[in-house]
Amino acid sequence: MAGKLEGKAAVITGAGSGIGRAIALRFAREGAAVTVADLDAAGGETTVAQVEADGGRARFVACDVADSAAVRTTIDAAAAAFGRLDILVNNAGIGVTGRAEDLSIEDWNRVIAVDLSGVFYGAKYAIPHLRRAGGGAIINVSSAFGIVAAPEVPAYCAAKGGVIMLTRQLAVDYAREGIRVNALCPGYVATDMGGRRAALPPRQRDAANARREANAALQPIGRQAHPDEIAAAALYLASDESSFVVGAALCVDGGETISFPHLFG
Ligand code: NAP
Repeated sequence: MAGKLEGKAAVITGAGSGIGRAIALRFAREGAAVTVADLDAAGGETTVAQVEADGGRARFVACDVADSAAVRTTIDAAAAAFGRLDILVNNAGIGVTGRAEDLSIEDWNRVIAVDLSGVFYGAKYAIPHLRRAGGGAIINVSSAFGIVAAPEVPAYCAAKGGVIMLTRQLAVDYAREGIRVNALCPGYVATDMGGRRAALPPRQRDAANARREANAALQPIGRQAHPDEIAAAALYLASDESSFVVGAALCVDGGETISFPHLFG
């Protein structure tokens, strides 16, 4: 049976780990040729190896999405390598913790550069290729924290909220050309976004992990998502199954954004 993305080519940023890797594997299984774009070469090459072991096609390109020239080169190279570009997933993202008075200007600028400007650069340079392919899909990975505020992550919340509005704006400009732009808003997902936590001293790391588990338990569903559950939603937005979905911010968040966290039992 033909896959849902047979004959398509996709670029997925931040696909060297976590949600991006799960999306790369899922898209490749559905027939897409995948460009894995990431800062982390080892992680990116691992994703490529996993896709190939699964019978799919993928290649790695080293890219910092905060560098507009690198994003342009990556997207052009991806389109050249596979002869077309149909799908862009702007997934790469970082978070830095600290209340406004404690967050450095450098950290603020870096989070905005990666999480918001990186999404703009990706769209800007992918759109001409998507048009040439006769239309396509852009999926911007925002967050539940682009909708509801969380403690001590001002830059992350601002960037992810901006991604939702940027998604809507791009959707307005390009829907008539068959380029659908949508956002995904995951809740707590069990990934290595926490891998950054691996660099922390053990006590801080354990505390951060425990806090994350406790927060996830407050979501109506009571647990973190598996990255595959986010990849399934990305596949929906990338495929023709979502042909009338334009400018949406699809929450895949276990109910995190629908309710104040009430205690059970
Ligand atoms: P992850 O495991 O940390 O993976 C992110 C990947 O992006 C890493 O391989 C990372 O490389 C790469 N990356 C970071 N900065 C980059 C840059 N400037 N250019 C290119 N690649 C870069 O994170 P994840 O949990 O899968 O998150 C993926 C997306 O989902 C992010 O946008 C995140 O904000 C969003 N999200 C995550 C959750 C969650 O609970 N996990 C919830 C809501 C939304 P390095 O390892 O070298 O940094």
